[in-house]
Amino acid sequence: MAYFKCPVCRKITSTHFDLARHYLGQTDKKHKEWLKTQDLSYARLITMQVTEFGNKGYDALAKVLKKEAPEVEMP
Ligand SMILES: [Zn+2]
Repeated sequence: MAYFKCPVCRKITSTHFDLARHYLGQTDKKHKEWLKTQDLSYARLITMQVTEFGNKGYDALAKVLKKEAPEVEMP
């Protein structure tokens, strides 16, 4: 079993998609600021998510998290 950690609050999820879903559910400054360091915008991702079909916002963020939140093996 492996898991992924939120780069901001260290919440643990089992997929990058779940991590993206967690991430966009957070509205605090810390989570939003980290997105800026990745050239992403919270508002833009939310807009993609709610106005386009197919979870585009989650997918775009999950793609970045795949690089930034590496898999951690359970001990
Ligand atoms: Zn988090």
